[in-house]
Amino acid sequence: TTPILQLDRLRMVYNIGPGLVSRLTGRADPPIVAADDVSLSLYPGQTLAVVGESGSGKTTAGRMATLQERPSAGHVRYDGQDVTHITGAALKSFRAKVQMIFQNPYDALNPRLTVGQSLAEPLRLHGLVPRSGLRQAVLEMLEAVELRPAESFADSFPSELSGGQLQRIAIARALIIKPRVVIADEPVSMLDVSIRSGVMNLMRDIQRKTGLTYLYITHDLSVARYMADRIAVMYLGAVLEEGRAETLIANAAHPYTRLLIRAAPEHRASAGKRSRIRLPSDAASQVGVPSGCRFHPRCPLAQPVCREKVPALGIVGTDRVAACHFAKDVQVNGLSVSLD
Ligand code: SF4
Repeated sequence: TTPILQLDRLRMVYNIGPGLVSRLTGRADPPIVAADDVSLSLYPGQTLAVVGESGSGKTTAGRMATLQERPSAGHVRYDGQDVTHITGAALKSFRAKVQMIFQNPYDALNPRLTVGQSLAEPLRLHGLVPRSGLRQAVLEMLEAVELRPAESFADSFPSELSGGQLQRIAIARALIIKPRVVIADEPVSMLDVSIRSGVMNLMRDIQRKTGLTYLYITHDLSVARYMADRIAVMYLGAVLEEGRAETLIANAAHPYTRLLIRAAPEHRASAGKRSRIRLPSDAASQVGVPSGCRFHPRCPLAQPVCREKVPALGIVGTDRVAACHFAKDVQVNGLSVSLD
């Protein structure tokens, strides 16, 4: 299958203005490399989860996928067409096909409009439904996201609704114009734990019914495992490992992926205290990315070569890549590998 949306070697560099470093040293501030050679492919009807901590570049990848930000280098392809620099009518029709759902559902909704008005807005903007059909289309969409009775939700204001209801409405608003791809950036992380699975299940049900494609951005590997067909693990702006969700979790080839798996809540619950590993908490920062392997300062397996040589993303199994000089050993021996 050909990908519906493809990020091809994307790079995003921000040149920040004069800051602390330049004031103290007189040297220019180093640029922030928010995405470094990021390649990801979304296949029709599937979910790709992008997993990473804050500063990993996962949100930047999502923003480049929707063309909210244009990459400094590389290409975005939609249905095989290069859309990296499209504008005007082409951009408008791309936006109708690639929608975004945000972490905070309030971002997607105007508090002064009723839910019905908010949902009708994108339909009007894209001229998809005649005026007389708007109300019906809105009610059908509210039914589809299981907000019943649809009539009363359509007439309510965001301030009258719970976080879970608002996120369902934000999902409805993204889906009402029938996009083919939805980029969801931590859509459940601000919701109460008890209602998260309801929203995730809704997204999966809609995908089953409509063949929608998701790019699902999360810091939580267990959420990624639940939602995704494929997982890409990002760290300091780069993809460190990518592959099918089950095989990646069953036999991770990158030490960072292994540490994320150990840190995931369900693993901690079953593994007890002994194997608890905390990632060193020094905040990951894209300013001054470490030399060689960018993960080496935090890697329990780091060797001298890791400081000098950048590991390329290499094939480490069927349909899977990882960027570690010792990926094969990690797959065989886990983190207890002896690397002499
Ligand atoms: Fe660790 Fe070296 Fe592999 Fe990087 S290349 S993840 S530092 S073992």
